[in-house]
Amino acid sequence: MKKIIIAIDGFSSCGKSTMAKDLAKEIGYIYVDTGAMYRAVTLFALRNDCFINDSEVNVEKLERKMNEISITFAINKETGRPDTYLNAENVEKEIRSMDVSSHVSPIATVPFVRKAMVAQQQKMGDKKGLVMDGRDIGTTVFPSAELKIYVTASAEIRAKRRFDELKAKGITANFDDILKNVNERDYIDTHRDISPLCKAEDAILLDNSNMTIAEQKQWLLDKYREAAE
Ligand code: C5P
Repeated sequence: MKKIIIAIDGFSSCGKSTMAKDLAKEIGYIYVDTGAMYRAVTLFALRNDCFINDSEVNVEKLERKMNEISITFAINKETGRPDTYLNAENVEKEIRSMDVSSHVSPIATVPFVRKAMVAQQQKMGDKKGLVMDGRDIGTTVFPSAELKIYVTASAEIRAKRRFDELKAKGITANFDDILKNVNERDYIDTHRDISPLCKAEDAILLDNSNMTIAEQKQWLLDKYREAAE
């Protein structure tokens, strides 16, 4: 089988990363969660007072500080999955907080942030053998990826999944707040000027509202086999 690039895009909390991680593990590919990269920049911006208010970024300040940000991944020996590091600090838990979730979309609209993230992501795909999930992977980062999937599910189902995920990690959250955050992020992600979330023409649509994780896993494995033959 040839080594390919697999681009998985879609709305927030639609189970993209679970399916992308599982597939990468199964077929021995590298997995990259690009949402984690925008989240790490957001955590840095919050810590360094780079917001004017909740929805407005202090762009000048953040731009001056961009060269102080280094984002890397390293496999967690316990989970077997990659953890996100911001300037050598493991921030995997911090970047999943509601505070980061509610500030990440404005950060992801900033052109120099996107440019820096996309350049780093493209470098990771040099040797192929990569599963990358995000919003613009099939459209902007790897427009010629051999396999592109566009995942969607209803906002309520996605909010419920995020709620359960946070609960399992011991993070307390309110369902209505999460649903509001999911809807807000959908709006910003699909309406921004640069690389808005949209389905690449050649992407395969997957609505997983009524699919189990096992069914999704099998579906994706079949698509991979067809594309890598
Ligand atoms: O995937 P996740 O929900 O963790 O992503 C967090 C946010 O990062 C998204 O809501 C979106 O604003 C942004 N993002 C992006 N482009 C990507 C991945 C994520 O704009 N490729």
